[in-house]
Amino acid sequence: MKTTFFLNEICVIVLASGLSLNAGLFAQNCEIPGGTTWLGFYNKNELFQTAERTPPGIESNFREVIWPRLSDNERSALRGVKFNYPDECGSHPINFFANHGDGKSTVCLPISSLRFLSEVCLAQAYLDVQQKKGAIADNGMMFITNYLSIIRWQWDKIKGTKNYSLLSVLGVNRDQILKDKEVDSRFVKLYSTAIMFIIGHELGHIRYHHKGYAESTPVQSQANEAQADEFSLEILRRIGDPPFGGILIFFFVSQHFTNVSRDNSKANLTLTHPLNSKRIRLVAASLRRHSTRYANSQDNPQRATLQFQSIADQLMYIADTFDDPDIWEIARVNGISGSLAQLKESIASGRDGRSGIRSSASLPPTGSATSPFVGSWSGYWLNHQKKRMPMTITFFKSGSQTKGKGQMNDLMDWQITNAEIKGRTMYFFWTMGDNYFGRGELSTEPQGKKLTGWWGTESNNTIKKSGLLVFERSE
Ligand SMILES: [Zn+2]
Repeated sequence: MKTTFFLNEICVIVLASGLSLNAGLFAQNCEIPGGTTWLGFYNKNELFQTAERTPPGIESNFREVIWPRLSDNERSALRGVKFNYPDECGSHPINFFANHGDGKSTVCLPISSLRFLSEVCLAQAYLDVQQKKGAIADNGMMFITNYLSIIRWQWDKIKGTKNYSLLSVLGVNRDQILKDKEVDSRFVKLYSTAIMFIIGHELGHIRYHHKGYAESTPVQSQANEAQADEFSLEILRRIGDPPFGGILIFFFVSQHFTNVSRDNSKANLTLTHPLNSKRIRLVAASLRRHSTRYANSQDNPQRATLQFQSIADQLMYIADTFDDPDIWEIARVNGISGSLAQLKESIASGRDGRSGIRSSASLPPTGSATSPFVGSWSGYWLNHQKKRMPMTITFFKSGSQTKGKGQMNDLMDWQITNAEIKGRTMYFFWTMGDNYFGRGELSTEPQGKKLTGWWGTESNNTIKKSGLLVFERSE
């Protein structure tokens, strides 16, 4: 780990990846299978490597970057705070917390959690660069999403096997890929901003003397979390570092391992931590409110202000995606049915866990008007929460079959692999990535200008319908 934690670049590229990651990602899950322990996820060498590299950077950044920017009140509340780095946290793959009381304050950062976070940041940085070079078709967030889902839902099975870490599934060596300067600089930016946000947050709990979850009501806990986040963002503002790519990765990863029932209304009442989507909304609101202040440290403050405001809009959109139980249901299905071997193969063949279509240049020619479906359509998916996700689809003839290719949210490719047309109704099979699949129906109205229908995921031969699809002819 470098100690040069702070880079004054706006992480627009990173954010773009964050977006698709979330579009592909899947909201709240049910529960982590009972009795799961994450002890032993990394071997001693891996833990040792991270323990050698990351804590010194954290210590020096706390002393040299954070401490000088604290007010007198904050310093007296935080005096004597220590960072503690236990090897592992058995209850969660990514977990950070603060302890205080008896005149002692500790920020606890398990090495295994730091390692997990750093592998995701490094994989993201590496895949972004690979995409830029054209080595893979799409940004790698889909791959990371698939990985997290499989680990989350199959850990008990995977435990005891070999080579399941993110980097080994990706088929890369950490030190090797860090030799690429661009990978290294993107990684440092993501990882350091994520860590600075996390330690700022934990320091916030200590600064405001927050009680532990056991001693607080859920409402109080959520207010505490929001206050700790805002404290962290305030520190980042004083430093002049816009942190959003790294923060998103942190929320994104932890969301995969959060226990939330599909019934969000119930879950909201009993959760101690607020949903990550709520926290992201607050982060977005804070960014918007203080965009001029962040922008002052940028080369072109006027332009930067606008950029920050648009990033805030994107974050709001991501929060909506986090709130969508259908998306997390797809993640769960994918997590249960996918395999790391498949995932590894997909990345090796340059497909990054997706459908295998490498570029939109290979889009087949659209057919004539002989079929009521052939041609391009754009519209939206209205999910159960009445949120609209933009969708496109182009239908074409392939031999005697009708197929389709399109996008969701302008980011995620999806395909109709086979469709049967009876009269004005099409019955189709769809896929997204290697592991998301299901069925659906679309019907045309008599003028042939509009399609309406539904899609859903399939498991055990039953279909779970997932909201409505609405398209209009776009040519
Ligand atoms: Zn907290």
